[in-house]
Amino acid sequence: MTNSSHVPVYYPIKAIDKIRIEAPYHALENAGHIAYIEMDGDPTKNVKAFEAIVRAMHDNDMGYFSINHPVDRDPVCGYTGIIENECPHCHRREIERGHMVVPRMKA
Ligand SMILES: [Zn+2]
Repeated sequence: MTNSSHVPVYYPIKAIDKIRIEAPYHALENAGHIAYIEMDGDPTKNVKAFEAIVRAMHDNDMGYFSINHPVDRDPVCGYTGIIENECPHCHRREIERGHMVVPRMKA
């Protein structure tokens, strides 16, 4: 055991199953551990899914985790959120693609 354990990201399981599989190892990893969950889409539009993932990680006693989700930003008008092909605010195209990480520490 090194300092972390991960189910391969390409493995086709749901986020919650990934949490259940990885969580028991966290107790064994005294050198530190982190879990990553990748979310597609905007978590502000899918708060239930976001909350379910956070709860599952807490209930499974995960020590540290972060949820990654894509965030786009229009540098012209400043709109931040999910932008498909054109900015929903000013309707221009050519958008900067970003990536946001939301870290969370266990209390
Ligand atoms: Zn815009």
